[in-house]
Amino acid sequence: MEDILTRFRDYCEKPYERAAQVKATSKTKIIGCLPMYFPEEIIHAAGALPVTLFGSDEPITLGDGHMMTNACDQVRSSFDSLLKGKYDFLDGIAAIYVCDQVRFYLEVWQLDHPVDFFHQMWRPYKMDSSTQVFFRSELERLISALEEFTGTKITTEALQASIRLYNESRTMMRKLNNLRKDHPGIISASDMTHIVASSMLIPREEHNELLGQLLAMLELKEAPTGKKQRIIAVGHPCSMPETEVLDMIEANGMAIVDDDFFTGGRYFSKDVSASGDPVDAFIDFYVNAIPCTTYHYADTWIKPGKSYSPYADYVIDMVKQGQAKGIVVLKEMYCDPYDMEFVMMKNRFEEEGIPYISIITEHGPGPLEAIRTRVQAFEETLRFM
Ligand code: SF4
Repeated sequence: MEDILTRFRDYCEKPYERAAQVKATSKTKIIGCLPMYFPEEIIHAAGALPVTLFGSDEPITLGDGHMMTNACDQVRSSFDSLLKGKYDFLDGIAAIYVCDQVRFYLEVWQLDHPVDFFHQMWRPYKMDSSTQVFFRSELERLISALEEFTGTKITTEALQASIRLYNESRTMMRKLNNLRKDHPGIISASDMTHIVASSMLIPREEHNELLGQLLAMLELKEAPTGKKQRIIAVGHPCSMPETEVLDMIEANGMAIVDDDFFTGGRYFSKDVSASGDPVDAFIDFYVNAIPCTTYHYADTWIKPGKSYSPYADYVIDMVKQGQAKGIVVLKEMYCDPYDMEFVMMKNRFEEEGIPYISIITEHGPGPLEAIRTRVQAFEETLRFM
């Protein structure tokens, strides 16, 4: 089992190595996707390999000369990787405007470093039936562009097969998540993150095979003994959380039993329907997506004085379902959508009497000692609840 976990970790440590190998040994086109929520299945159905671009752990040396230093790490680190040639293996780019920072980044990228295929698309911020016609046209525009670029007709059958493959992946990830809810600590939060993130970096068929083997072994593994405080971790809507911080939290008397990271629960909570019209299925997936800080909920703004945050309520429900005692919010510095929502989130957590701690990181965990003291104090609070 350790061998499989090591492979998932390695894929995250050398995030683009496997994709570059695929390109070198086959004619597969590699399309880089910027987080978050890109419909990878459509790229897969065109016979190409979607690879999520997370940037890298290296110090940002070139990116800061081109991007504002108050842009989020995801954007700055990714731009740094681009300038250092780490994305040279890509045949194209596809991304959704999830926030202004991504949009700005893409505009600079397209002007300064054009690639053969550069597809940007809108995803409505206000998710309701009034935006469905527009979103359909955006999805159809993506399908046509990919068909033209790859020379492959994207049929309904191919799309449904790709959706089934990705649903299989999400189903296994949910099983894994349920295992840690039932047996806290059976899989560490950092391994969970590596497992989900690596699925976005290598061919999904390979990842499903490995994940299936891991699940079979975990189902036979004895549950860890010893009592830890059950907690939920949320944050990092686009990037991987710092695994050193996750390990430190779990080494200090707490077990993360569920999360809402992009490289976690947010990625696998829902399936895309594999029956009927695939474009309808994607529209349904996005319009009825789990609440997100990058969506616009009119009620949040038109009722002053009222704590209203569908995202906070989603997290509170996760706390209840997971029988957790508290929430760790891992915030990526300069993520505007998350910062703005956090004001409403903490109001709702306080109204519900749920203890929380907010830890802010930026391109690496920084000195862990200061965080450790706060984490230990938080665990003590939970112990006496
Ligand atoms: S982390 Fe936040 S600011 Fe950065 S790209 Fe994602 S949503 Fe935008």
